[in-house]
Amino acid sequence: MNYISTRGGGGPVDFESALLTGLASDGGLYVPESWPQFSATDLAEMARLDYAALAFRVMAPLVGDAMPGPRLQSLIDAAYASFDHKAVTPLVQLDRRNWLLELFHGPTLAFKDVALQLVGRLFDDALTRRKARVTILVATSGDTGSAAIHAIAGRAAADIFVLHPHGRTSDIQRLQMTTVTEPNVHNIAIEGTFDDCQALVKAMFNDAGFRDKARLSGMNSINWARVMPQIVYYFHAALSLGRESRPTDFSVPTGNFGDIYAGYAAKRMGLPVGQLVIATNVNDILARTLATGHYAVSEVSQTISPSMDIQISSNFERLLFDATDRDPAAVRRYMDGLTQSGAFTLSDPALRRIRQDFTACRIDEAATRDEIAQSYRETGYLMDPHSAVGRAAARQQIQPDSDTPMVTLATAHPGKFPEAVRQATGQTPPLPDRYADLRQCEERYEILPNDLQAVESFINSRI
Ligand SMILES: *Cc1c(COP(=O)(O)O)cnc(C)c1O
Repeated sequence: MNYISTRGGGGPVDFESALLTGLASDGGLYVPESWPQFSATDLAEMARLDYAALAFRVMAPLVGDAMPGPRLQSLIDAAYASFDHKAVTPLVQLDRRNWLLELFHGPTLAFKDVALQLVGRLFDDALTRRKARVTILVATSGDTGSAAIHAIAGRAAADIFVLHPHGRTSDIQRLQMTTVTEPNVHNIAIEGTFDDCQALVKAMFNDAGFRDKARLSGMNSINWARVMPQIVYYFHAALSLGRESRPTDFSVPTGNFGDIYAGYAAKRMGLPVGQLVIATNVNDILARTLATGHYAVSEVSQTISPSMDIQISSNFERLLFDATDRDPAAVRRYMDGLTQSGAFTLSDPALRRIRQDFTACRIDEAATRDEIAQSYRETGYLMDPHSAVGRAAARQQIQPDSDTPMVTLATAHPGKFPEAVRQATGQTPPLPDRYADLRQCEERYEILPNDLQAVESFINSRI
């Protein structure tokens, strides 16, 4: 399988190049040249596979010739052996038609582990074979950073620098990053928002001199290899529910649009997917875009679901590519508009196509708290605020006169966001035992201004 840039520049590259470079050289995002197809017969057979075997079936055509099958399978096996649930991403039933897909059984208790436990191993494998070493640069609103650090800490082939917005992550999110003391792990707290962190990372990648000298590589969800493993659990959920020939709806707590884009990819690959509900908190740029066709960046608000406090949803560019019939010139026009004026307006056909696959729903802070309380009353289930945004959106978007099951993605363990859960339910969600002494550990991080020069010179001084 070859990968092409959403902005049309450069030639097609194989999976391994897309993995190691992250962003295409023209600033675009890599997408597969075509979507692999699974038939109804394939799906019926895939329904019998366990998670790791299913993951191989779904991902092998996307990796293509870049890696021999047995090596891919062994990396997949190792990645999902690090999860503390045998089903890897188990489903929990809430009522007759509603299910939760628990994606938080990995080492850092959020869904980012599903991708990063594999991506870390893919990086290490590729770099070791090439006898190369890279600097991995990650911007995080909280969960990506710890998942990336846990995927890379102690690996010989990479240094990792993680930029998080100073004071805007939860305590546990910060501690999961800053208490990892392997010498190849470097935490930077930026005096700004997540969008500032993401803009700094993009600017460093666009600074060719710095990028080449530091041998920069990315692990944000703009990296195709981050999206790919997330496609698997849409198949796993739908097939577990016996839906190989009938649709399943999904509601996805959304920030950077990586997770829900993976659901869209599953649909393009032949999985029967009904509606994909984009569930946002008050940072609702995507809900506004679906309602009006106008994508316009505004201020980021801090919420109790901080991993979704994002205005620029980078992976939306991948959807724009398909929505414009894979027209890189149109994508470039939209992205230029975004850079120049912080906004663009979708063409009518593009908006129509997006609305065929997606609906969107904004859940404010009060509704998020109410949802945590209501879910607890109805089922005794303690839900983290991100998952609650998804569940509240599912309640609003589920079609009353249909039998299609609705699967809400539970993206974080409630113990990661104990304050919000306690306020809504009076219950303190316990953290798994392995995190019991987190607050006693020594922390290590550098506070830097929102300034490209300052961050680049800090990184230069450490590599
Ligand atoms: C990252 C994250 C999200 C948002 O996922 P995107 O792929 O950025 O849309 C939602 N919930 C949690 C807990 C997260 O960590």
